[in-house]
Amino acid sequence: MAIPRFWREIPSRYNLLGSKCGNCGALDFPPRSVCPRCGRRSVGKMDKFRLTGKGKVVTYTVIHDAPKDFDMMKPYVLGIVELDEGVRLTSQIIDVEPGEVKIGMPVEVTFRKLGEEGDAGVIHYGYKFRPAT
Ligand SMILES: [Zn+2]
Repeated sequence: MAIPRFWREIPSRYNLLGSKCGNCGALDFPPRSVCPRCGRRSVGKMDKFRLTGKGKVVTYTVIHDAPKDFDMMKPYVLGIVELDEGVRLTSQIIDVEPGEVKIGMPVEVTFRKLGEEGDAGVIHYGYKFRPAT
């Protein structure tokens, strides 16, 4: 599947890129170079696949014992999200009170600054999920 030009021009850190197996069509996130289902038959047939970033909460946990760096945001919600494409991933669920997260709740991906590092001020971004609007 071709990725529209518009998306190719956006740095990959703002995209949720998975891989699609050209042999069996299986989707994986994070992207893989070899399909876990087909093994060697998929070599050279793996394509990048841009995920919609929309899905629903499959299960979640409220984390109270956050690492020191996360002091500002505890407690926080860590969930397993199943995307519309059927791919599951683990992510922090933000912009919602821990008590208001529900299984099956529609969510969408959002990219947030995770931190800044070193003299060059390299800014790290990562994906998180929030309730879908
Ligand atoms: Zn495959």
